[in-house]
Amino acid sequence: MNHTPAKNRAKISLRVKIFIALLIVGVPPLTIALFVAYRSGTDIRKYYIGSRFQDLSQWVAQEINSNLSSEISEGEAVALTPTVVDAVTKANKAYSGKSADAVMNEILAVDEEWKAAQMINETIRPYLSNQISQYLKSILDLRSDKYTEIFVTDDQGALVGATGKTTDFYQGDEDWWKRAFNRGNGRNIVQGLEYDESSQVKSVVIAVPVREPISKTVIGVLKMVLKADYLFHSINTLRIEETGYAGLMTKDGELLATSALVRAPRVPANFWRKIVSKGGGWTSALDEKAEENVLGFSEVDMSALNGEAFLTGGKWYVFFYQNTSDAYGRISATASKVFSLGLGLVLILSILGFYATNRIVMPIRLLREEAQYIARGDLGRRVEVHTNDELELLAEEINIMSEKLKETHSTLEQKIEERTIEISDANKKLEAQREVLLKVNKQLMKASTLKSQFLAEICDGLNNPVLNIIRLAEVVSQEAANMSEPQKTYVDDILSNAKHLHQLINEVFTLARATSGKIELNLTDVAVEAMLREVHETVRALASEKNIKFEFQIEPNVDTIVADSNLFKHIIFNLYTNAIKYNRINGKVLVAAAREDNTVEISVTDTGIGIRPEDQERIFHEFERVEEGREPYYEGAGMGLALAQRFVEMHGGRIWVESQYGKGSSFIFRLPVTQDK
Ligand code: ADP
Repeated sequence: MNHTPAKNRAKISLRVKIFIALLIVGVPPLTIALFVAYRSGTDIRKYYIGSRFQDLSQWVAQEINSNLSSEISEGEAVALTPTVVDAVTKANKAYSGKSADAVMNEILAVDEEWKAAQMINETIRPYLSNQISQYLKSILDLRSDKYTEIFVTDDQGALVGATGKTTDFYQGDEDWWKRAFNRGNGRNIVQGLEYDESSQVKSVVIAVPVREPISKTVIGVLKMVLKADYLFHSINTLRIEETGYAGLMTKDGELLATSALVRAPRVPANFWRKIVSKGGGWTSALDEKAEENVLGFSEVDMSALNGEAFLTGGKWYVFFYQNTSDAYGRISATASKVFSLGLGLVLILSILGFYATNRIVMPIRLLREEAQYIARGDLGRRVEVHTNDELELLAEEINIMSEKLKETHSTLEQKIEERTIEISDANKKLEAQREVLLKVNKQLMKASTLKSQFLAEICDGLNNPVLNIIRLAEVVSQEAANMSEPQKTYVDDILSNAKHLHQLINEVFTLARATSGKIELNLTDVAVEAMLREVHETVRALASEKNIKFEFQIEPNVDTIVADSNLFKHIIFNLYTNAIKYNRINGKVLVAAAREDNTVEISVTDTGIGIRPEDQERIFHEFERVEEGREPYYEGAGMGLALAQRFVEMHGGRIWVESQYGKGSSFIFRLPVTQDK
């Protein structure tokens, strides 16, 4: 039995496939989810931190604003106290009745003395020890953390009371004074920052007009000098996670306050540009070290102030910033944790997937093993699969199949054994018959050879007497002049019959020799066309007796063949003479030759009497002729075609006839171009 052997190994194991399927189903969504979470996490953290910094800035800016407002309110409250109002009113009254120039001269005179004095002297002391000064000092003592100096002037700008020896006595030419007095209209102002070289303290000036309580007429100005450090306390101290800092800057980028450890005079150019261009918001910006920072900022809005602000640089901005990596550090750490957790999950999923795959594939492996046993013919085994699913059903089916196969197999084997015995019996009988046939065949062969040898010997024996008769008859016929007509006819008959007999003997002799293998082929190169024409010459006389024309159609590719030239000539001669003999008067003979592969096909076609289909095979047998009812009678012994066939076959060729009864015949033979020597 022939069967294709099963493949031993799967190209891709099922386990790998299922595992890959599980990975495809599980891992990409998880990875995408992780990625999306990570991306949106990044966005969220940016937004979260950025806007948190912005909120902080806003909140601190508002705090500065409300601090200033409350300081103004404080100033207003102090300016309303009777001590202040009375002292200022009194100072102003002292000028009544004097000309403006006189008043100014008086003030400037004191101012000069004031400036010249190294310490508090007689001129200065009254101004600093009066009731209002005492009052102002008490306020300063109470809040020395806030104020460096508080003083009050009259409506000319001259000091009425102060907490200490301030630089000038006359303040009327100072910006803050002019702004707060506002040509008698009065206005709360904030002005800053001022920088005191000697104390190296930055401060903000709060100036409020002192008004007559009932008429609200502006009678003087109260100035409070507020420590910038107090005002910007939040900015100086607020830190975000150690590395995030606050700052306050002017519109020009001057750094007014910061919680950063190093206080640069200016904020980084990138920060400044972004802050000023947007006013409020958050962004990321490179610092002077070209490191990225998260930057939140807000303008200090002075529009809600109960007064007017004259700020250095025009506008102030609060900002918070932190190096991005620090800012995102904690969130990044969390994100990384989530990410690694996700990866861990993927890993666990993979392991579980692998385990599950194994569980699924194991029974299939068992089934495969079982199938291999069955294929090997090891039948009737049982595979144990208990998975409570289709695989278990399949295993059961396989078990049943194996059992049935076992049964079928044993009955088959029995039948085969029976048949084998029968066949071997029949074989023995055939063998015996063959032996018999072989014996018969041998005997037949022997008989045939004997017959041929016998014929050859007879012919050999007959040949000489017949030749003698011919010679004698010829001698006699030379005496024809002395013979009567009937005598002449007898001699002619004897001569012609003897010649015919001689030809017949020759033919039988040749055939007998050929059949008993006594003729050997004498192979040479034979030029086919030349041979066909040469033989025609020998029958030309015979043909002209019946006025029969020969025609030749030799294809140019017919050249020479390797053959026995005599036998070849004999074949053609026989076909030509038949074509003439069995032709009609004025008939035609067409001789054609063509090469086909390694053979040459030659045909001789006549326009004669033709041969009935039932006779077409037997005419090739020796002594077979078609004679019944033939008119006229054709001479012949029925040996020609038998010989021709024998000679063709000796060359390994074939001869046959195609004929239409009453119209003509074609004798065709085909010879190989070369012969195996
Ligand atoms: P024969 O000596 O009788 O011609 P052949 O063996 O040559 O012997 O031919 C056998 C017989 O085949 C002939 O007797 C004749 O009846 C028939 N035969 C042979 N050639 C032709 C042919 N060209 N046309 C018709 N019949 C033919």
